[in-house]
This record gives sequence, C-alpha cells and structure tokens, in this order.
Amino acid sequence: MNKNMNAILAFLFLLPLFSFAQQRPNIVIIVSDDHAFQTIGAYGSQLMQTPNIDRIAKEGAVFTKAYNTNSICGPSRAVILTGKYSHKNGFKDNENSSFDGSQNTFIKELGKNGYQTAWIGKWHLETQPQGFSFWQILPGQGSYYNPDFLLMDGNKKRMEGYAANIVEDIAEDWLNKRDNSKPFCLVIGHKNTHRTWMPDLPDLRSFDNKIFPLPDNFYDTYNNRKAASLQDMSIAKTMLLGYDLKMFDSKEAALKEGSIKRMNANQQQQYLQYYDSVNQDLKNKNLSGNSLVEWKYQRYMKDYLATALSLDRNIGRTLDYLDKNNLTQNTIVIYLSDQGFFMGEHGWFDKRFMYEESFRTPMLMRYPGIIKPGTINKQMLMNLDIAPTVLDAAGISIPEEMQGKSFLPLIRNNKLNGRKAMYYHYYENGEHAVSPHFGLSTGEYKLIRFYKRVESWELYNLKKDPTEMNNLYGQKKYQKITTKLIKQLNELIKQYEDVEAEKILLKPIAQN
Ligand code: CA
Repeated sequence: MNKNMNAILAFLFLLPLFSFAQQRPNIVIIVSDDHAFQTIGAYGSQLMQTPNIDRIAKEGAVFTKAYNTNSICGPSRAVILTGKYSHKNGFKDNENSSFDGSQNTFIKELGKNGYQTAWIGKWHLETQPQGFSFWQILPGQGSYYNPDFLLMDGNKKRMEGYAANIVEDIAEDWLNKRDNSKPFCLVIGHKNTHRTWMPDLPDLRSFDNKIFPLPDNFYDTYNNRKAASLQDMSIAKTMLLGYDLKMFDSKEAALKEGSIKRMNANQQQQYLQYYDSVNQDLKNKNLSGNSLVEWKYQRYMKDYLATALSLDRNIGRTLDYLDKNNLTQNTIVIYLSDQGFFMGEHGWFDKRFMYEESFRTPMLMRYPGIIKPGTINKQMLMNLDIAPTVLDAAGISIPEEMQGKSFLPLIRNNKLNGRKAMYYHYYENGEHAVSPHFGLSTGEYKLIRFYKRVESWELYNLKKDPTEMNNLYGQKKYQKITTKLIKQLNELIKQYEDVEAEKILLKPIAQN
C-alpha cells in the first residue's frame, strides 16, 4: 500500500469520529420550581397561555407521564444531577440535607468528555456546585426581586431586577462568552413559580379580570386518608393573607417582609400600589368563612399564574437566543419543573405528596432530527432519567450507579415498552406536616405506605378515581391486587436498594 493510500484510509477511518465530535448536541435544560402541569397549555390547561413552553411541545415532545422520585425542591435537583434516588445521592429533604458535591453527576461526565457546562439560577443544594465550567447561583431559595447571586470566586453579588429576567441574562451572557469550538450543556434554574408567587411588575394585573373554577375536590374532607387530614398546606388554614397574598394593612407591615424590603423605591411603589388596591377591595367585601377561602384561592391563582408568565416569557428568550445564534438545530432543549404543585386540588397549595398533582411534573423536550415535532409521549418517565438520557444523547456511556434509564430508545422506537411501575420516596417530616411515605404507581393503581408521622397504607384506582379521593386499602375486593402491588413494591425497593424502606415494609401495622 502506498503512502497516499494510507493517508486516505486514515482519513476515512477518522471521518466518522470527526463528524461525531462536531455533531455532539448542545444541551439546554431549564428547571423551574413548583410549576404545575395543570397550568400549561401543552398539557391542556385553559387557565393561561404558555406559548413558549407550548413551542417546545410543538417542535418536540410533551411527556404526559413524567414524574419525580421525591416531590420537593433540593431533592429533585439532586436526583436530576445524579440520576440516583435520594437514598443513594444523600439529599433526602430540604431541612437536614446538604449535597455531597464529590459524587458523580451527568455534568461531570459531560465535562470529562469535552463539554462546557454551566448551572445558572436556582440550585438549592446547600453546598457549592462542583464539576461545572461555570456557575452563578441563587443562595437557597433566592429572591424574586434584586436577587443575590453566589459567584464562583466566593463573593456574593446583588443584581437589580427580577429573578427570571436576570437568570436568563446571565445564561445568555455565558453562552455569548463560551468557547465555540466545544459543545455545551447549560442548566437554567428558575425560581419561578415558587412561593410566595411574586410576579414581575408588568405582569401584576394580568389576571385581574379572570375568575378561576374551583377544583371539584377543593372542599375535600380527607375521609379515610389520615396523612391528608393532618397536613398543613391548605389554602383555608395555611395560606397567609400577608406573607402569601401580600395583603398588608400598612407600608410598615409590608416592609417587614424581606422580599418587599429589598425592592428599590420604584419596584416597591408599583408593587404596593397594586396590592393596596386589592387589599382595599378585600376590606370592602368583609368576607368570612368559605367566601374568604375562595377569595384566597382566586388571589393565589392570579399571583401564581402571573409569576408563570415571566417564566414562560424567559423560556421564549432562551429559544429565541438559540434561533438567533443558529444553534436550534443542534441543541437539545429540555424543560421540566422540580416537581408538580397543587392548584387548589384537595384544598391545597404546595407539593410533597405522592398524589398526582405533586408527583407528576411537566416535562418537554425538543431534539431536532430525533424527536418528531408534535410528539405526545405517554411512557412513564422520571426526573431520574434526565442524567442518563442526556449522556446517551451526547454519546457518553452511562455510569452504572445511575438508577434512571435513558428514554431516547423509547423515543426512537415507539413500540418499545418503558417501566411498568414508578417508585417514589418522600422523607421530609417538618414544614407542612406531610408524613414521610413511599410507594409505587403502575399508572392504573397507586399504593402508598405512610410512616413516621402517620402509619398507614393507601390504595387508589387511578383509572376510576384520578383525583385520589377514595382510599381502597383494606377493602376485601382489592385484597388480591394489594398483595400483588406490595410484591411489586418490594421488588422495586430491592432493585433501587432502598434499605430504609425495605425495613419499614417488613413492619406490620394495625391498619388505619
Ligand atoms: Ca420545588
């Protein structure tokens, strides 16, 4: 073989590697906070318009059965990063956990393989991010107005403006300055739509003329569901007129709230002017009993949805940025919330429970060339799957300790079957008084074991009782299915090596 031939062969051999390296997709993951699928157009919501999230659905896929493994802020982000359940990644709750940043994450795997990586915005994992090319995060929950950011050099910087806009500004700035020769993975962490639902100034009046229908089970009495009856997250009792709904009787009272005190004079003036007029109206109405509870619900919906407007708008800015910079075709965009949220169902706000509104999360993905535009995917997916899916897309082998599964094969071949059941474990036993619990959902049935605060079982037929009002556990008719589900639950617990749950499962309890 002559020299030229050798060179040609070597070139041909290297060609696929070469083009592969160039074609590795960029990845943008937008993680919001407490964003309910019930409020998103792509999920059939009539409550508000979400044109930008809907754009991801139109150009990609909406996952209608996406769930999380532990429905609360920090733990969900730890699961997304590690692809491991809370008992494996160590971040079990928001009260006592801090993230062990030395463990492996999909970000570290991407970094090792030539990706530039960044996390910007809400992080909520207590310890500093590790393994990123760049990060700039909100400390803890962060603030909606004039938020502080923690910087890589250890300093803290206050930035004037509204959190969602600033987070997007920082993200675009990082993209502008990145090394164009390398693929990137950017995580944008939004604070919206977390409590206390503070809208951006232009959005304050957006829902003033709307009246929202009460969910059918708004006046749930929690019959036969002890954990639900003991919770402290109801619109009636837990939601505060001041702290949550911004009804203050004086400017002095308003300024006692750190979130309002930190505003500049202009923000404060516009904000308080609006809420003072609402408060005046409330006083004139002189409401009590259910009328007051329903008024609180309406105010909650207005504030929450107005806060979601800014989230959706800034997601639109991300998509526009990709368009303008010719990145759309080679960039995967994933949008998800850290968990779902109750929008008055069972009379609640907040999350935590394994009930659908909290357990389920919005999740959408655009992946040009791989996902057919307008795909509606009904497989049972979990936030646990994000890490392995992203690595799969980047052509990087998935570390064995990751417990999630890449869902790309399910997208490429819609005849493949995904998981048959989903395992869930919630640990926190503090704020909002939700009992720790674990359980499984098969899509048809859900079995939950509460422990610690409440010792009880719950069983739901999700097809017949989608709002989970009728606990069937202990009914003779359901004994057979219960036995089968407990066996299946035990198998999942073993598969995921949840030793703590295994011990509890073995302990018999006097039922309810
Ligand atoms: Ca959250």
